[in-house]
Amino acid sequence: MNDEWCNEINNGAAFGLKIKRKLASKQSDFQLVEMYETEEFGNLMMLDGCTMVSSRENFLYHEMMSHPALFSHPNPKNVVIIGGGDCGTLREVLRHKGVESVHQIDIDKVVTEMAELYFPELCEKNNDPRAHILFDDGIKFMADAADESIDIIIVDSTDPVGPGEGLFNHAFYTNCLRALRKDGVFVQQSESPLLHLPLLMDMRQAMLDVGFSDLKHVNFPQMIYPSGWWSGTMAKKSGQFDGFREADAAELAAEGDLQYYNAEMHKASQALPNFLAKAFKDQ
Ligand code: SAM
Repeated sequence: MNDEWCNEINNGAAFGLKIKRKLASKQSDFQLVEMYETEEFGNLMMLDGCTMVSSRENFLYHEMMSHPALFSHPNPKNVVIIGGGDCGTLREVLRHKGVESVHQIDIDKVVTEMAELYFPELCEKNNDPRAHILFDDGIKFMADAADESIDIIIVDSTDPVGPGEGLFNHAFYTNCLRALRKDGVFVQQSESPLLHLPLLMDMRQAMLDVGFSDLKHVNFPQMIYPSGWWSGTMAKKSGQFDGFREADAAELAAEGDLQYYNAEMHKASQALPNFLAKAFKDQ
């Protein structure tokens, strides 16, 4: 950060957004939470110097971390979001009329307080009676979760450093698998296939090691994250991923509120470039 630019430096590359002014800055118990007004991307949240959410393009991440997983499940009713404190994923999940409850567990209340002030559009469903917003460690929440009680788990976390580190290991995945019902789907943000392939492969291997029965990779653009190319990894509790509820996906897209996701994007996002197809085949 200098006087005019917010820069995230990662893997020998830097991504910068020109800023108009700093809106807020607070050192929470877990991380430094900073808010800026940018020239071209609306408001920007940074956590410990990493770009997290901008007004202009967060729809890419939030729609792709939620709808592919929910439409890959026959009838999701109970959803858990680990992390996700900006509430954008919560808003997307609540678009699904069949969903009866969503528990969002972010470790850091300051993230949600800042989102309520600076991203009110992401928090517009926070008072939905189906939404339960909790502030706790997601690792502990999943360790305490009842067996076979959840249909969808979405891990909308920071990178595997600091408080997010324990969301990327065998112990956490074992608890998630145990807490999912039979048709359950787990999805976790899995970083950049271009920059973080070893981490992505380790995550996949750990999910398979603990007993998830099938994996699906989801690609999407995310300009403010390193390389501009991001991903989610979906894992199924039992059986294989076998298509998705295409008609329901098309119906939600036809309502006109989604900016990226539709049934065609669902299919397109799962196409694999050759280097990824080879890496996954060799795993
Ligand atoms: N979209 C971003 C990305 O992929 O870089 C992440 C969004 S941000 C909402 C991630 C959230 O994960 C943060 O609010 C952070 O507080 C939360 N988080 C990190 N570790 C956590 C943990 N152990 N339990 C619950 N939430 C956690």
